[in-house]
Amino acid sequence: MSAPADEDRPVARHSGFVALAGRPNVGKSTLVNALVERKVSIVTAKPQTTRHRILGIVNRPDAQIVLVDTPGLHTNARRALNRLMNRTAAQAIAEADLNLFLVEGTRWLPDDQAALDRIQRVGRPIIAVVNKVDKVKPREKLLPFLAELGKRAPFADIVPVSALRRTNLDRLVKVISAHLPEGPPLYPAEQVTDRSERFLAAEIVREKLTLALSDELPYGLSVEVEAYEVAPDGRVSIAAVIWVERKGQKAIVIGEKGERLKSIGRAARLELKRMLATPVYLELWVKIKENWADDERALRSLGYESR
Ligand code: GDP
Ligand code: MG
Repeated sequence: MSAPADEDRPVARHSGFVALAGRPNVGKSTLVNALVERKVSIVTAKPQTTRHRILGIVNRPDAQIVLVDTPGLHTNARRALNRLMNRTAAQAIAEADLNLFLVEGTRWLPDDQAALDRIQRVGRPIIAVVNKVDKVKPREKLLPFLAELGKRAPFADIVPVSALRRTNLDRLVKVISAHLPEGPPLYPAEQVTDRSERFLAAEIVREKLTLALSDELPYGLSVEVEAYEVAPDGRVSIAAVIWVERKGQKAIVIGEKGERLKSIGRAARLELKRMLATPVYLELWVKIKENWADDERALRSLGYESR
């Protein structure tokens, strides 16, 4: 609780951009959603789910924290899409006031070191966040891991959390706020993200697709919303194209008698209905665009930006 504001001494307000960076799958998007208390970024158990820079805005009486979710930094980026994802993450890190370096307790992989090197190079303060502490067994393994981590870089602080179970998030918010510059809010207090509902709809469809398909296929998929219409009574109609790279992939996405596509559409529609609090009509098509993930121009036309 903060003390009541004196009339002549207003509460100091802090605000700024805070990028969440780290290797794929450490829980960056889960943490953004947990802190914003809304789903602004999709989550799956597969690496490289996040492909864009997505803002999640946390409003507190004394601070506005603009979280920047980023694609995971990874080293074997052969395809144009992967290079662009790395570039998007690197830009977000370079532009942030403060960086959160996410790792998974108690794992340290070569990609963690590569991500840390990348973040250290921009020279902003870094808070290390050790996520997934709910999985650390026995609990005693955590302390030595934190001590080892502390030796790897001069972190401003190290905060263990569980994004999934929402453990220690209040402390994380306090630590972040304390390291942000003083300043007025950057966004209106009611805004939770910079992304449109149309973008969110495409992402929710991609999340359900990724969850429904086997390991390799999701990277060859993209979703484009071609029409998003709100009727006078508030109902939303969405038409979206699922882009795949090959004929065989199209058959896999559609499934036998169209069953897989139907269940993906059902799951996406139900979630959108809940999020938008209105009935949703969702139409999905599957189309082929060969090797779009290797083609910079195709990537841009599908909304993958790198500023
Ligand atoms: P990102 O690639 O870094 O954005 O990671 P995601 O947020 O997409 O999460 C990757 C996977 O880790 C998902 O299956 C999440 O449910 C899981 N996850 C995220 N945070 C936690 C956590 O605190 N505890 C556990 N047990 N799992 C988590
Ligand atoms: Mg993510």
